[in-house]
Amino acid sequence: MAGLPVVSSNRKVAVIGAGMVGVATASYLLRDGHDVTLIDPEPPGSGASFGNAGCFNPSSIVPMAMPGTLAKVPGYLADPLGPLAIRWTYLPKLTPWLIRYIRSGTPERIEAQARALRSLLGPCLESLMPLVRNAGAQSLVARNGILIAYRSEATWRGEKLAWDLRRRNGVAWEELDADELRQFDPNLSRDYIRGRLIPDNGHSVDPGGLVAALAEAVQRDGGSLRYTRATGFAMNGNRLRAIVTAEGEVAADAAVITAGAHSRSLAASVGDAVPLETERGYHIMVREPEVVPRIPTTDADGKFVATPMRHGLRLAGTVELAGLAAKPDWRRARMLLTQAKRLFPGLAPSYEEDRLSMWMGHRPSLPDSLPVLGASTRSPDVFHAFGHGHVGMTGGPFTGKIVADLVSGRPPPIDLSPFRADRF
Ligand SMILES: Cc1cc2nc3c(=O)[nH]c(=O)nc-3n(C[C@H](O)[C@H](O)[C@H](O)COP(=O)(O)OP(=O)(O)OC[C@H]3O[C@@H](n4cnc5c(N)ncnc54)[C@H](O)[C@@H]3O)c2cc1C
Repeated sequence: MAGLPVVSSNRKVAVIGAGMVGVATASYLLRDGHDVTLIDPEPPGSGASFGNAGCFNPSSIVPMAMPGTLAKVPGYLADPLGPLAIRWTYLPKLTPWLIRYIRSGTPERIEAQARALRSLLGPCLESLMPLVRNAGAQSLVARNGILIAYRSEATWRGEKLAWDLRRRNGVAWEELDADELRQFDPNLSRDYIRGRLIPDNGHSVDPGGLVAALAEAVQRDGGSLRYTRATGFAMNGNRLRAIVTAEGEVAADAAVITAGAHSRSLAASVGDAVPLETERGYHIMVREPEVVPRIPTTDADGKFVATPMRHGLRLAGTVELAGLAAKPDWRRARMLLTQAKRLFPGLAPSYEEDRLSMWMGHRPSLPDSLPVLGASTRSPDVFHAFGHGHVGMTGGPFTGKIVADLVSGRPPPIDLSPFRADRF
């Protein structure tokens, strides 16, 4: 590839999972001259990376568990349109994760988590754009910021700690009053009284399509794609010999676990028992909507995002704690449309089903809102790169670059100690 430094270390690397994280990792490994195979039983970009809100948010450095989060939970759970649901049958399995989650929200720990997140998310667009240009996918990425709209003063005031944290970590934004909000986007309801505009963020108008396009470029540039499920690793002592898959072995002398919410058992097989959970999220899309936001717009009170996409208006968000196996509860997707009508009153009161589509996906989440990133305990050849939670589209591109450094034997560009697998 023109103009890029190529290191001729040439390892045979298997990347397990072809979501945003895996595909970005494969892309950067190829640039270093490695022989790369992506392994996934599903087409690239069909996991969590398919249906998210599409935002590239280097500003999203506020951990999910904050001081005071616990006090808000009963209110969230009591509200049928609320942003959080727990399936009570899943609670016994979930409890150890929940305890760690609550304990991670102390004032000292959130400072460290936010700093670590900023180091990983800050270089998002500069890491992503070379891959996008190489894939010819520029039309799938917009770089015109995001908006956060507030319906209540209480919510605005309640977020002070979070915005102080952002300020301390170098995030820049503009504050809008009610009139400025309306001038910025006349489609917004008059019930919204304040706004924050983050001009440096971007978004994809088709996140799944973008990951698929990057994966096509990986194959065009010499990488390969194997449609099968990885089940473990074949070792010679602590050195990797092959990936064990549902269809036999794939020879490799390095591997990266990028299987998102499904990474737990693979990580355990190389000595790292990590408390990975799924925070399930939903979207509903409206084809040919009457109104679209100018840029992705977060409803700070409803805690969902309305994103203008090439196939319509996507309303995405909510957290449901119910594990990997439970069936979707489509009421959680439909409620997003109810909420969105408060944000954009120009949307129709009701829609024919053929104009709507719904999706549920698995955010891969660790209790401290940080991914696991770095070499495994059992083998210097197997690397972890999973658990990006709410920010994997944003964190994926720079993660890929970091992993390429590790596989190639270069020092990583940021301190990776907050992301160690053995931190729990
Ligand atoms: C509603 C919602 C909104 C979101 N909005 C945003 C947003 O605006 N911005 C943002 O940055 N993030 C957002 N996210 C988070 C983001 O979508 C995820 O963090 C990100 O997609 C995770 O990427 P990934 O590559 O780790 O996982 P995935 O995209 O899930 O990919 C993992 C892949 O691994 C494969 N796999 C699983 N097991 C195996 C195996 N054993 N062998 C081989 N392959 C396997 C799967 O098939 C899948 O293709 C949102 C998430 C949700 C649910």
